[in-house]
Amino acid sequence: MALRLKKCEHIQAIESVRKPLDYECEECIKTGDSWVHLRTCQSCGITLCCDSSPNKHASKHAASHEHAVIISAEPNEKWMWCYVHEQIARY
Ligand SMILES: [Zn+2]
Ligand SMILES: [Zn+2]
Ligand SMILES: [Zn+2]
Repeated sequence: MALRLKKCEHIQAIESVRKPLDYECEECIKTGDSWVHLRTCQSCGITLCCDSSPNKHASKHAASHEHAVIISAEPNEKWMWCYVHEQIARY
């Protein structure tokens, strides 16, 4: 995979970053599952668990809703990720 220097259109389209409202995976909470890290969807603002978590809710959400960009919801991390272009960007 070649490194892209230019930000993709999904990342460029984000004017203000949506922060997590609650520090928990909305889907895992329903089923009592646990997670490793949290991600917040930049299209709808939902916070879900990362790919290191058993349920990978953020990836599933992105694929089924065609919501391209998430941020890390971890308090000391400032990066976003586009699933479509597999591109990371700092903010
Ligand atoms: Zn993109
Ligand atoms: Zn989850
Ligand atoms: Zn979403």
